[in-house]
Formats: sequence, structure tokens, C-alpha cells
Amino acid sequence: TTSFVSKEKSIKRFFSKQRATTMAAVTSSSMLLRSFSTAGRIARIFLTRESIRVLPRIGSPRSVCTTRAAHNEEAAAKSAAAVADTGAPTIFDKIIAKEIPSEIVYEDENVLAFRDINPQAPVHVLVIPKSRDGLTMLGKAEPKHVEVLGQLLHASKIVAEKEGILDGFRVVINNGVEACQSVYHLHLHVLGGRQMKWPPG
Ligand code: AMP
Repeated sequence: TTSFVSKEKSIKRFFSKQRATTMAAVTSSSMLLRSFSTAGRIARIFLTRESIRVLPRIGSPRSVCTTRAAHNEEAAAKSAAAVADTGAPTIFDKIIAKEIPSEIVYEDENVLAFRDINPQAPVHVLVIPKSRDGLTMLGKAEPKHVEVLGQLLHASKIVAEKEGILDGFRVVINNGVEACQSVYHLHLHVLGGRQMKWPPG
């Protein structure tokens, strides 16, 4: 009887180990699937011993990191949106007031352009109105903002010229949670210095 019980215990231990391995594979495969769907590809992963062994070769650590970063951006965008309409100052107010440092690329009476702290391209400059005047996001634009909107676009062109990317650059405005806006003070991203892809993520 003792030997039967100990055999049963070791069989249980074996299966619980197998379950842990399978669960780890399921977790990593679902992360990989997400990165695959981001890339617009179709991945079919069968949880056989064979496919578990090939999993690490399917996705690179970079694709998993990219997925994680995207989730962080979404979380940051959600928490920023929660206070967007309170009129609370943003980090950009501190940059305008020069209370915190920034690398200014261009400045005039109405507009400030400075390098993004987390650049997504060799050139990544943010162009913002010095006075927010209700422009937490482009979606809040009113006829009274037409002039400053034009000034922001014109300043973006000046930035591109100064940065030597006038022949190829992209201007992006993220508007709201679904676009991953994280600072509620209208800003234009001026990006360049590398080949851009389309469609954007
Ligand atoms: P968005 O996600 O479109 O709202 O863009 C906000 C941008 O502000 C992000 O690209 C951030 O990297 C950038 N950012 C946040 N804080 C700073 C800072 N202190 N200096 C420069 N850029 C910043």
C-alpha cells in the first residue's frame, strides 16, 4: 500500500509540473499572439510539446517589450484622460515656465518647440501653444483657435527645416485615449530622420 501511495504521489507531482509548463507556454503564446496580431499576421499555435519547444523562436523579446510598452502607454493615456477636463496644469506648463529643463528647438511669442523626452525617431520634437486656452486636445478646437492652430503647423515646418528633415517628416497629433494621448495640452509631434512606415500603429 505504501509503495502504491508514493507512486500515486509522484504521478501527481509529474502532472502538476506538466501543467505549470503548459500554463507558462499559454501565457507566452498569448503575448506572442498579441504581437503577431499587431503586425497583422496570423499565428496558429498548437500546444503540443513540439510547438512549445519552438515558441521562443516565433517572437523576439523585442516584440514582447513593444507589446508591454503599448500597454503602458494605454494605461498612461487612461489616467491622463481622467483629469483632462479639470483644467489641471500639465508638465508642459512647467516646461513653458522653464521650471523644468527642456531642449528648446524653436520658440516665438505663441509657440514653443522642444525635444520629446522619449524620442520615437532620430528627430522627435513637440510643438505646443504657450497658452493652452482650452486646447487640451485637438478635439476641443473652436473657431477662436484657428490662428494658433495655423501657427503650430507653421512652427512645425520651421522645426523640420532647422532639423534638416524638410524633405521627409511626419506631424502627429494624438487625440484622446484611443490615440494614446498622455498630456492634455495640445501638442504636435514632429518626427523624422528615418524612414516612416504606413499605416502607423
Ligand atoms: P502624447 O502621448 O501624444 O500625449 O505625447 C506626450 C509626449 O510628451 C510623449 O511623447 C512624452 O514622451 C512627452 N513628454 C512627457 N514629458 C515630457 C518632458 N518632461 N519633456 C519632453 N517631453 C515629454
